Amino acid sequence: MRHFSPTNGQMMAEQVSLATVAAEVGTPAYVYSAATFTRHYQVFAKAVSAMDSLIAYSVKANSNQAVLSLLAKLGSGADVVSGGELARALAAGISADKIIFSGVGKSAAEMRAGLEAGIAQFNIESMPELEQLNVIALDIGKIAPVAVRINPNVCAGTHEKISTGRAENKFGIDIADVDAVFERAVHMPGIHLQGIAMHIGSQIDNLAPFASAITLAAGLIERLRKQGHKIETFDIGGGLGISYAGGDTVPPTPREYGDLVRRLTQDLGVRMIFEPGRMIAGNAGVLLAKVLYVKHGGARNFLIIDAAMNDLIRPALYDAYHDIEPVKAPAAEAKMISYDVVGPICESGDTFTQHRMLPEMQAGDLIVLHTAGAYGAVQASQYNSRPLIPEVLVKDDQYAVVRKRPSMADILKTEHVPDWV
Ligand SMILES: *Cc1c(COP(=O)(O)O)cnc(C)c1O
Repeated sequence: MRHFSPTNGQMMAEQVSLATVAAEVGTPAYVYSAATFTRHYQVFAKAVSAMDSLIAYSVKANSNQAVLSLLAKLGSGADVVSGGELARALAAGISADKIIFSGVGKSAAEMRAGLEAGIAQFNIESMPELEQLNVIALDIGKIAPVAVRINPNVCAGTHEKISTGRAENKFGIDIADVDAVFERAVHMPGIHLQGIAMHIGSQIDNLAPFASAITLAAGLIERLRKQGHKIETFDIGGGLGISYAGGDTVPPTPREYGDLVRRLTQDLGVRMIFEPGRMIAGNAGVLLAKVLYVKHGGARNFLIIDAAMNDLIRPALYDAYHDIEPVKAPAAEAKMISYDVVGPICESGDTFTQHRMLPEMQAGDLIVLHTAGAYGAVQASQYNSRPLIPEVLVKDDQYAVVRKRPSMADILKTEHVPDWV
């Protein structure tokens, strides 16, 4: 479900015309729909409502303060992977007891910040990390609530750069080694080992990898309990895929996912933790851009747009597909043309798509790249000295710039030329 559709021949975000946003805010810009975020959160919450659970939205998918505040008001917790994301979640009003700290390389300062805030759980990924957390907790007189992230060694069938649950990935602890971690943790007074965590990948478009991984983890939980360990939480991560290609792939619905998880975990007597990111944010945003030039070269037609790989890196990094649509609906008789849609950056990788059939376009036309609400703005850089682009949040017929474009003066102010140059 996404609230980006045409009305009277003009693409809208809810009841706001994207042409108006382009005129008033400029392009390129990310435009988000509050109604879509809300709907996705509520659909997910309903799908898991039969379980004792915490939804910890994966902040790295879209960490804008307005987005986090919106989700906080809906009751969401947060899964954070850095001290910066922890600060964002707390600033947005997400209470510490709903915050999970994930990530393979938490620094001492990040552990301290999480402990001082009183977060719900640290998901640790190695013995040295656990030892460090114990030392820091004792140092400040706290006990760290911890889950061990396992690596279930399942293939999520997704792009290799977003697969995280294979033995060769850097994430988690081999299931065979988890017993030893629990044994050691018993002797760490700063650690309260309370659960098992996992996250097997992203954009997973069928339920089988989740089923295999949950079944493995359930076996592990029973084994650990037989050894006398208490297991209170089971964090199954995120990773549920969404549709990018206008319905080409049909990932499982949140309901099917929730039913599967419930069936496989209902006898475990654990509190479930979910960390959805893409599923909440992906279809809640578009990248709004303008055609700068139409170039006919060799056998190709290039649409050169004002957005580039620094603004949205997913196509370059993961070969990701994004639906592309003109903001002004084409006439019924419009000619369809095969375009390569590219940005202005001096890299051949700065290509959003090749050989895409689109209605004939002209310089000045506005387009949207759909499904850009997750892993879009958060992965942007200022490569080629292109300032970060604005983020706009729409609700009903109103919109606000929720991150403004820095000026070149703002950017230059952060740099310094030593007098010995
Ligand atoms: C990235 C990530 C998520 C979110 O993944 P999605 O595919 O966006 O749902 C959840 N948990 C962890 C630990 C992650 O690294």
